[in-house]
Amino acid sequence: MLDACGVEHGFGVRGADGPNSVVRPRQVHGANTVTLEECAREGAPEADAVVSAAPDVPIGVVTADCVPILLSTVGGTAVAAIHAGWRGLGRGVAAAGAAALRRLAGPELDLYAVVGPHIGRCCYEVDRPVLDELEARFAQRLSQALASGRPGHWMLDLAALVRMELATVGIEGPAFEVLPNACTCCDRKRFHSYRRDGPSSGRLYHYIAARPQKAGSQTQLQG
Ligand SMILES: [Zn+2]
Repeated sequence: MLDACGVEHGFGVRGADGPNSVVRPRQVHGANTVTLEECAREGAPEADAVVSAAPDVPIGVVTADCVPILLSTVGGTAVAAIHAGWRGLGRGVAAAGAAALRRLAGPELDLYAVVGPHIGRCCYEVDRPVLDELEARFAQRLSQALASGRPGHWMLDLAALVRMELATVGIEGPAFEVLPNACTCCDRKRFHSYRRDGPSSGRLYHYIAARPQKAGSQTQLQG
């Protein structure tokens, strides 16, 4: 779907670092957003979403079970990369990232979002304290993202939470996609997983860049 927007992008797999010089925020599982320009500055604030309208400059996030979300305007003129684990989702990072992209791109433009490899509901067991924090944001809707697990535990579908969040800001239906068969914990061959491998786990690199300007579209100086 992002291909249709004309943007260069990629979700990480083992051994792939993405392009050189990807601009990434200092991730802290929060809901703060930054622009490319803020992010590239020394002493940039901590953030879990970055937005850019700079053609051909890759921005990105890293993950090892959390959800990477890449967004683009329909024409690829502005893009966003979001890092969303359960804490970030409970703090509203997905909607905050989409709102930051709308501020940059203009409210009238349609946005597309793709969710990349993350720990799936098949493997992501959580306990009551996690649900308590998520309930504060998702209320009754939270149950749609849960399956029952061992006593006192639940299996959590992070992508379902992202879907709910982005629907509230108008990204839904065909504008929202989840990469299929991409559980980081199940698929040892392709992905790193913190839940499976612990603190020594590697990280997956995800990136996206706004569409290159068409040749000849730059304003010419008139003599
Ligand atoms: Zn799994």
